[in-house]
Amino acid sequence: MKEIVIIGAGLAGLTCARRLHAAGVSCVVFEQGDAVGGRVRTDFVEGFRLDRGFQVFLTAYPTARAWLNYEQLQLHVFAAGSRVRCDGAMHEVSDPWREPESLWATLRAPVGSLADKVRIATLRRSARRGSLDQLWARPETTALAALRAHGFSERMIERFLRPWFGGIFLDRELETSSRMLEFVFRMFAEGHAALPAAGMQAIPDQLASGLPTGTVRLGAQVARLEKGAIFLESGERIAASHIVVATENAGVRALLPEVVVSRWRATTTIYFAIGKSPLGAPKLVLNGEGRGYVNNLVVLSDVAPSYAPAGQALLAVSVLGDPAIEEGALIELVREELRAWFGAQVTDWRWLRSYRLPRALPARMPLVPMQSVEVRPGVWIAGDGRSSASIQGAMESGEAVATEILRQSDRRS
Ligand SMILES: Cc1cc2nc3c(=O)[nH]c(=O)nc-3n(C[C@H](O)[C@H](O)[C@H](O)COP(=O)(O)OP(=O)(O)OC[C@H]3O[C@@H](n4cnc5c(N)ncnc54)[C@H](O)[C@@H]3O)c2cc1C
Repeated sequence: MKEIVIIGAGLAGLTCARRLHAAGVSCVVFEQGDAVGGRVRTDFVEGFRLDRGFQVFLTAYPTARAWLNYEQLQLHVFAAGSRVRCDGAMHEVSDPWREPESLWATLRAPVGSLADKVRIATLRRSARRGSLDQLWARPETTALAALRAHGFSERMIERFLRPWFGGIFLDRELETSSRMLEFVFRMFAEGHAALPAAGMQAIPDQLASGLPTGTVRLGAQVARLEKGAIFLESGERIAASHIVVATENAGVRALLPEVVVSRWRATTTIYFAIGKSPLGAPKLVLNGEGRGYVNNLVVLSDVAPSYAPAGQALLAVSVLGDPAIEEGALIELVREELRAWFGAQVTDWRWLRSYRLPRALPARMPLVPMQSVEVRPGVWIAGDGRSSASIQGAMESGEAVATEILRQSDRRS
């Protein structure tokens, strides 16, 4: 019997499967890896939870709200503001709407003028106006051009906005779409940045747990497609009524060479086991000095204590890109930089693991609204490469493809 076949058990593939299952339609998901999750995986190392690349979940993501049980994820939220390292010291830049008591410290921080802080409010209002569909249809430029058009001073951009948005887009040049800038700003304004207690992989794990046993086949790499069938690396042929290619861009290119895919943005996350948090607050720290390897860092166990074993803390340092520097040398350069920030204690910080991720986010511009893409008859593409490069984009694209397949099936019956 022909089934709907989904290739890839990342968030896009899993959400597609969940949407089909919710409509009473069965499907099979083929995943080449040893677990579900794709780019959202967590390793458990010496009692620490190491996400494969620092990332956060934004609770306002609308598709995530529809499919995930937040309570079961036991979400731990970040504080709304950040600390910015500049002029050789740490400064508080908080969200005065959420933490009014921080207003004074924020205003005094040498990070931007009072006018810049007012412009944040304007950007916030603009990002929250209208529907999300309207947001994706707004005039598009780069994030940097949009920030300048909003009137932000260079000082505010260099010290706060570049490291902040650069860390989210993995793009210090801020060439990312201004639509993405507004989307992210809106999500931050309408919800929280959070981590599940068990690590980011709890998100795909929860999606998969809502599927009937046997729906996901792990260790099953799809080698090629033909009309109405897929072939696994093992040679097995599986007939399919519809094929959803929910792989990342490299997988799309291998299976569907005619499809144009975007280039990648890279990042490197370096984890250290540290005795005690030097921050003592669930806050992101941004490098506003305008030099150095570190873009941002966070003590993850200050956000979610379950990320570190009792009596220890877990520090995640983000270096944007994939620097052409040997592993040990990069760790020492980062340590040296942080010694200037946190003093002698850094010498005792124990390196745990680094994740170099040359293929972290697809760089998509123009960023058009989500479309469910049927690239050949009965062959569909889902994934963050078809939508916004985010957890929301991946889930939304999977849901949209499933909805379109169901609509087509309804029309035929
Ligand atoms: C370091 C990093 C930081 C990030 N930060 C954030 C963040 O803070 N917030 C946010 O919202 N998003 C963030 N993202 C983005 C988010 O994780 C991704 O957009 C999302 O997970 C993509 O899901 P996907 O299903 O589209 O693709 P993937 O997760 O890449 O899933 C594709 C799956 O297809 C499988 N596959 C590929 N080829 C084959 C084949 N031939 N046969 C079988 N299986 C195959 C792969 O093994 C993989 O499991 C980050 C990503 C990274 C890497």
